[in-house]
Order: sequence, then C-alpha cells, then structure tokens
Amino acid sequence: MRKRTAIVWGVAILCFVVLMLVTPAIPQSQEYHNFADQREFFGGIPNALNVISNFPFLVVGIVGLVLCYYGNYFKLSLPGELCGWTFFFVGVAAVAFGSSYYHLEPNDARLVWDRLPMTVAFTSIIAIFIIERVDARKGTFSIVPLILAGIVSILYWRFFDDLRPYAVVQFVPCIAIPAMAILLPPMYTHSAYWLWAAGFYLVAKIEEAADVPIYNLTHHIVSGHTIKHLFAAMVPVFLTLMLAKREVAEERISLLRMWRISWTKVKSNSTDVEKISCEYSAAPVEERDK
Ligand SMILES: [Zn+2]
Repeated sequence: MRKRTAIVWGVAILCFVVLMLVTPAIPQSQEYHNFADQREFFGGIPNALNVISNFPFLVVGIVGLVLCYYGNYFKLSLPGELCGWTFFFVGVAAVAFGSSYYHLEPNDARLVWDRLPMTVAFTSIIAIFIIERVDARKGTFSIVPLILAGIVSILYWRFFDDLRPYAVVQFVPCIAIPAMAILLPPMYTHSAYWLWAAGFYLVAKIEEAADVPIYNLTHHIVSGHTIKHLFAAMVPVFLTLMLAKREVAEERISLLRMWRISWTKVKSNSTDVEKISCEYSAAPVEERDK
C-alpha cells in the first residue's frame, strides 16, 4: 500500500515537473481586471454589483461554521472531517471579504486576497474527499499540505507572474472531485449533491468568461461576473444542504454502481412492459381464430 502511494506521488510530481518544463509561463493578463460592470451604486461603492454579490458567501460560510459546531448538527464522526469542513467554511466566509476588497479596486495585489480564501476552500474539499472516500487518516494528514500547496501556487504567481501552478491547483479538483464523486464508494448518502455543486461551479465559470456578453444581453442590468459570484455561492449552499441531509451509508455503493443498478431495473421494467404488450396484442388474434 505504501509503495503504491509513493508511486502515485512520484508520477504526480513527475507530471507537474514535465508540465512546468514544456509549457510557457502564463502571466496574469491585466485585461482580467477590466470588468464589464463598473458602475457606482449605494453611495459611491465602485464596481458595486461585483462587490455586494459576494455577500452570500459570508452568509453560507457563517451558517456552515455554526452548524459544524452547534450540537454536531452535521453528525461529523471523524475529527479530520470537522477540521476539513471548518477550513472549507472559513474559506467560503473569507471569500466575501477577499473578493469584495479586490472588486473595490481590481489589481494584481488585491487579486491575491480574492484567490487565497477560494483556494483554501477548494483544497480543503479535496482533503475531505480523501477522508470520506479513500482513507480517513491520510485525508486528515493531507489537509494542511494541500492548503499550503494552494497558498504556494498563489505566492508563485505573485512573485514570478506565472499562473501555471495556480491553474493546476484549480484544474485538478475540477476533474478529481466529480470523478471521485462518481467512482469511489462514499461513506455517506446524498452523493449526488456533489455533482450539483460541481454543475453550479461549471456554470459560474462560463458566466465569468461571458462577463461582457451577459452584461449586453441583460441591457446593462447585470454582468456575467456578478452572476458568477451568485452561482459560485450555490456551491457551498449545496454542500451545506448535503451535510444537513446525509446519513452514514449502510452499504458503500458508488454513484456509478447505483446508476448501473437503476439502469438495469429500468431495462428489466421495459422488457416486462414489452412482454405485457405482446400478450395484449396476441389476445385479439386468438379471438379472431375462434
Ligand atoms: Zn469576482
């Protein structure tokens, strides 16, 4: 088992080193800070809608933290889980401050504070996944190194103006989390909420890319980036709902296996229906024969 872990780490590090050697540096585009909606509202708040649309993060983050500690509402059984979800909800609540600070005056120096809490939330989610689906001990020990890797990727970008490690930290969870949610048998029920959360994140990314087109489409009412904030805030909302609803699974079955089982049921039902309709169609023929 130890040998396998070493091989996985070795391959991952090798892939990263090769990626860093063969690809060119990705500098932070200054055009990124030029958002579609720069209107002042509410007594002169610059970029007002992009600033205030971060408020939901604060609400979800605080609600999540309170429920984590209030009478163990989420029924978290392992200490690593509580630690992982605490980092997650602290990260989510901090997004409200970091992102608002950035959007008040968008520039590289302030963007660090937008990306930092988001990365803490992101990386703690991977650790939680490892705890729940791979190995509780390994997952717990991976919380701090994963969060540190995220922070280092941001510092690397800031000091060397190269976004590649940050892009890896962003990209890997986008693939790994839905894949693990589908393939690995979970400790808890309600796994589909992970996919809802991933779906909202994906839509948020599309809206972010369509900042100007959405602003034009809505006749300058709301921009893509503002909607992106609201959709991204639905990610912790769905995860909080999942935490509130889920139970420890009696049988650990992966989503993929569950889908397969229900697909076979649907298939066997449809063959039953075919059989019945065959019997019905046979009946008048028999009558005619008489
Ligand atoms: Zn933003």
